[in-house]
Amino acid sequence: SSQRKVRVRFAPSPTGGLHLGGVRTALFNYLYARHYGGDFILRIEDTDQTRFVSGAEDYINECLAWCGLTPDESPNKPGKFGPYRQSERKDSYREYAEQLVNGGFAYYAFDTAEELDARRKEEPNFRYSHENRLQLRNSLSLSKEQTAKLLSEGHPYTIRIKMPVEETVSFEDMIRGRVAFETSLVDDKVLLKADGMPTYHLAVVVDDKAMEISHVFRGEEWLPSAPVHVLLWEYLGWKDKMPYWAHLPLILKPDGNGKLSKRDGDRLGFPVYAMNWTDQKSDETTKGFREMGFLPEAFINMLAVLGWNDGTEQEIFSKEEL
Ligand code: GLU
Repeated sequence: SSQRKVRVRFAPSPTGGLHLGGVRTALFNYLYARHYGGDFILRIEDTDQTRFVSGAEDYINECLAWCGLTPDESPNKPGKFGPYRQSERKDSYREYAEQLVNGGFAYYAFDTAEELDARRKEEPNFRYSHENRLQLRNSLSLSKEQTAKLLSEGHPYTIRIKMPVEETVSFEDMIRGRVAFETSLVDDKVLLKADGMPTYHLAVVVDDKAMEISHVFRGEEWLPSAPVHVLLWEYLGWKDKMPYWAHLPLILKPDGNGKLSKRDGDRLGFPVYAMNWTDQKSDETTKGFREMGFLPEAFINMLAVLGWNDGTEQEIFSKEEL
């Protein structure tokens, strides 16, 4: 509905320094919110404890502040709809995962990580999907009694989405237009991990709903996951609240192959970080635009015109014009 209050979020994972591409995603979200008088929200996606890097959240805050992309709501300035930091809401994700199992949209899977790794070694193309889920150890292949027994014995499990067979999921992407996916080609993604933490797929849907997000502008690398998210919005009974989707093209290597990396930046003599970033493990510092003496206005201008033009010859834009 066009009446909907614009609420957009930038949702980085605190796994390292904020890369050029991340700031660009934040910029598009920010500009959209400013243009429509909406809210620009920062959500820290920290459910993957194995990839957590301390100091990364501070870096993200400082970086957004330097760029002038100050969030209206963030962990430091929460509004009335959380979570602003995902790790603070574990229990809620589990409830939704169980609701999906009870509705027949998801199932308990008891195969251990070791078993699945061994399987993948034997069959490099192995996917946990409708093709083989009845041959694996889960609540679809086991009897109710066997499942209840494993659960009561405390056997570790994950919860997986049961992807429908031979259906098409389609939606309108603000950039791509209509996109459609054959559900049979998508595997049964894990929603809740054995450690009780949600995966990105579950958390992103639950949180975008809780935070009343109206539009999701995110990197194109998430386009293949979008059908899973669209199904989850539907399965959780929230289809009428689903945000509009916009998958932004990525900043690629100069030869067009793959995402821009620190090495490409080094080779071509430009930084890939907005501000200096020091890797915790190696103690190695990568130079940022700020430390090289660039003005934030110039940095933002560069990101805005990278792959965008307003149809004129204008190359220099203030944030207000953008
Ligand atoms: N945490 C995800 C990332 O860092 C966010 C993707 C999204 O915006 O939904 O890429």
